[in-house]
Amino acid sequence: MIPVNEPLIGEKEHIYVGECLDTGWISSGGRFITEFEDNFALYCGRKFGIAVNNGSNALIAALKALELPPGSEVIIPSFTIISCALACVYNGLVPVFVDSEPETWNMDPHLIEAKITGRTKALMVVHIYGHPVDMDSILGIAAKYNLRIVEDFAEAIGAEFKGKRCGSFGDISCASFYANKTITTGEGGMCLTDSPVLSEKMKGIRNLCFQPQQRFLHEELGYNFRMTNIQAAIGLAQLERIHEHVKKKIEIAHTYNRLLNELADNEILALPMEKPWAKNIYWMYGVVLNKKRGVKAIEIQKRLDQKGIQTRSFFFPMHLQPVFQSMPWYKKERLEVSEDLFDYGFYLPSGLTLTKENIEEVAAALKEILDGI
Ligand SMILES: *Cc1c(COP(=O)(O)O)cnc(C)c1O
Repeated sequence: MIPVNEPLIGEKEHIYVGECLDTGWISSGGRFITEFEDNFALYCGRKFGIAVNNGSNALIAALKALELPPGSEVIIPSFTIISCALACVYNGLVPVFVDSEPETWNMDPHLIEAKITGRTKALMVVHIYGHPVDMDSILGIAAKYNLRIVEDFAEAIGAEFKGKRCGSFGDISCASFYANKTITTGEGGMCLTDSPVLSEKMKGIRNLCFQPQQRFLHEELGYNFRMTNIQAAIGLAQLERIHEHVKKKIEIAHTYNRLLNELADNEILALPMEKPWAKNIYWMYGVVLNKKRGVKAIEIQKRLDQKGIQTRSFFFPMHLQPVFQSMPWYKKERLEVSEDLFDYGFYLPSGLTLTKENIEEVAAALKEILDGI
């Protein structure tokens, strides 16, 4: 079986984790937390890093820190992970869904203004599968309507917009270090910001809003979102090799591109792309079947599975999620690009442990299946 993803764990991870175990610093104190925060913030071009226990909670902490009025609307892509919508809902905010661009699969900036109302207070930008969003458009809209920006770069750690790293845009940027991300801590996440005020707020939120002066006197509601020193130890070791990870992801994509180009030329499927202003890290190598051929992703995925190749379906759009349909803000709508992406898109094995032979096997299997229908 060729797995859809596998983390790449090196010798340094063992050494650093060993240090945690040997010294007893296994909870959320210890040298690795601050070193990981500082170095990851530096890598992304940010002043402050606030490590948390996962990427979903990073988004919750970020939106909470912005202190938007209850019921404010936050514009998010429909084609994303549910964490983005949950962060709104758990903060008493209303997610407003925007459809995707057919080429990059990112939220289409041209569709945002039509969704802005008097209650809109923030944009949540998500760089899907490693391709950055057109940040010039986003920053322009945010300035025009006075909106805050939360950047979810969980899938785009190491990606760049016009030479500037993802993770450096907007008020707060949120990363995930889940096992399939560019670098991993097993479970983990981080909020980045340039604002000392937001940084302090998020440090409070992740730590039950204990107060520096009087620890057990609470003036705000917090959470326990703390990352452990053990997680940070793994993260720091991974971060030392991040350039290698990013390079490997791009190499995997280029190899797939070369092998699957013919299918793309014949309009059998669409491959990931890279806008001239973008550095795509190809976090996951997604392909989208040509709708006109009438074959859905799930059928091809089943056939690949029979050949020992694991794949993963694309996101199911947020505007169709059953769990949201009973919410007071729910609106029935059609967002065709997102819906088609779910029906016709899936991603191929893209993990950092993939060999050239693995990629050739996947490409050959995919070609054979698609030739036969
Ligand atoms: C992985 C991911 C997250 C959340 O990460 P967890 O660490 O699994 O909670 C959030 N947003 C996006 C876009 C992701 O891909």
